[in-house]
Amino acid sequence: TTVLEQGTINIHTENIFPIIKKSLYSDHEIFFRELVSNAVDAIAKLKMVSHTDEFSGEVGEPEIVITLDKEKKTLSISDNGIGMSADEVKKYINQVAFSSAEEFLEKYKGTTEEGIIGHFGLGFYSSFMVAKQVEIDTLSYREGAQAVHWTCDGSPAFKLEDSERTTRGTTIILTLMDEEEEYLEPTRIKQLVKTYCDFMPVSIMLDGEQINKRDALWRKSPQDLTDEDYLEFYRYLYPFQEEPLLWIHLKTDYPFLLNGILYFPKLKPDVDVTKGQIKLFCNQVFVSEHCEEIIPKFLLPMRGVIDSPDIPLNVSRSALQMDRTVRRIADFVAKKVGDRLKEQYRDSREDYIKSWKDLGTFVKFGCLNDDKFKNQVEDIIIYRTTWDGETAETTPEVQVQAEEGDAWQEVQPSNKDAQGHTYSTLKEYLERNKERHENRVFYCTDEVNQGTYIQLHQNQGLEVLYMDSFIDPHFISFLEREHSDVKFSRVDAEIDEQLLDKENDKEIVDPKTNTTASEQIKELFEKALNKPKLQIRTESLKGNNNEQNPPAMVLLPEFMRRLQEMNA
Ligand code: ADP
Ligand code: MG
Repeated sequence: TTVLEQGTINIHTENIFPIIKKSLYSDHEIFFRELVSNAVDAIAKLKMVSHTDEFSGEVGEPEIVITLDKEKKTLSISDNGIGMSADEVKKYINQVAFSSAEEFLEKYKGTTEEGIIGHFGLGFYSSFMVAKQVEIDTLSYREGAQAVHWTCDGSPAFKLEDSERTTRGTTIILTLMDEEEEYLEPTRIKQLVKTYCDFMPVSIMLDGEQINKRDALWRKSPQDLTDEDYLEFYRYLYPFQEEPLLWIHLKTDYPFLLNGILYFPKLKPDVDVTKGQIKLFCNQVFVSEHCEEIIPKFLLPMRGVIDSPDIPLNVSRSALQMDRTVRRIADFVAKKVGDRLKEQYRDSREDYIKSWKDLGTFVKFGCLNDDKFKNQVEDIIIYRTTWDGETAETTPEVQVQAEEGDAWQEVQPSNKDAQGHTYSTLKEYLERNKERHENRVFYCTDEVNQGTYIQLHQNQGLEVLYMDSFIDPHFISFLEREHSDVKFSRVDAEIDEQLLDKENDKEIVDPKTNTTASEQIKELFEKALNKPKLQIRTESLKGNNNEQNPPAMVLLPEFMRRLQEMNA
């Protein structure tokens, strides 16, 4: 075949421009985040340049000033950042979807550890969602630069002229559309600042007053923070909620930049675990309320903040899940969560046990969903047990250091919670009981309704694990798959041979009916419960002269119960 022509596709600006203006974001207020984040970038860039010999002037106190003019219907956002020359305006503003971020980072990388929020060169145009005219008044940091003024009324035509401006930086002036006048109200602006800019490193001023106030706790060093600092921050982010159980301070700068604080909240069976609760920031600018695309599914119930300039923001949500950096971030977060849990298990066993009811749900949910996480935490899954915890020689000792530099000490961590219940890992359980019953686990799912059965096991010195949380039915199946050599028996499913008193088991036949006592009891129960073919076994139990032991009991074999549960 012959090639007729090769070339570049043309875009007709008049037709595409309205689409860019209208369809970039669904929410109009996003323009505010975009313009403020450009101002933050401009200030970050100036800081980066100031570390080179290209710039010898004063950086000054970074500041963003918002001015509202109800008469002229203008909203202005002013920064004392890097500014733009006429050439830069032509390059980065007049060319839609052309960002300076990449070139800039390439040139100045390594000067600071700050990142830049911009990526795609589209954010600026979101201002046309609310403004009928947009102006830029700007002076570059370069010596002898000429200030310029750019005006555009939302058609693809623009005007670029010299400006009188004498201070370094950029002012964006929006003349708002009639239906967007809410952005002239100071209360509305304060609300936007609280949502998007509360934690920004730069002060935002309105009417001479700083309106963003909070410290971005996640940017600080964990050594400088107290438990109370973390708790207070949690209360600020999630007011009127129960205190968190545990938190993790995340910090990394390779292979991506990320700071954050994650909290384990108390879990309720009714929480919607599909909705992420972690707030996403980019260089301290708030981006979104949920980050289900970034966090592994099983960690969605966690709360807190993640701040990373390396998460591409304007990319569609489904594309984000495919992004390599995002996948690495997810792995990183999961790994850190596992490490933190192990640290708590090792160093603060009592707190770990105290929070286990809630932590355990995370951990089990994680094991069901993520193999890597399972491998990390499987040894620190604990179960409440009927064991009194007194013969502790199989509980591994843990080395602790009271303070940095102190000698390591062998201590026996307590395995009891506040109510005096004992906890144990599965490995310890199997080890402890291997002489009585090798590879056999007795468990119960309902302390009250299965009380008699539990007691029966206990009377014979058989240890029973409590598996009674709402996730445990799934978790037991998981354990059975994981430990195919171990048999898991629910206390009311089958009577263990060890409970039977074979020696003294003498069946007496009633001469009147010619049936045994067992058969009579079986018949009686079947009638009373209206269930023919009930799986009843009556046998003599060991210690039957013990008053607490029942004379007979109804058992539902494991497979029968599962069948019923499946049909239910
Ligand atoms: P992005 O932020 O993704 O790069 P934008 O459309 O928001 O894209 O902005 C395009 C470019 O315009 C930026 O990369 C930057 O070079 C320039 N720019 C925008 N706002 C400012 C500002 N306040 N100060 C200096 N340069 C700016
Ligand atoms: Mg931008």
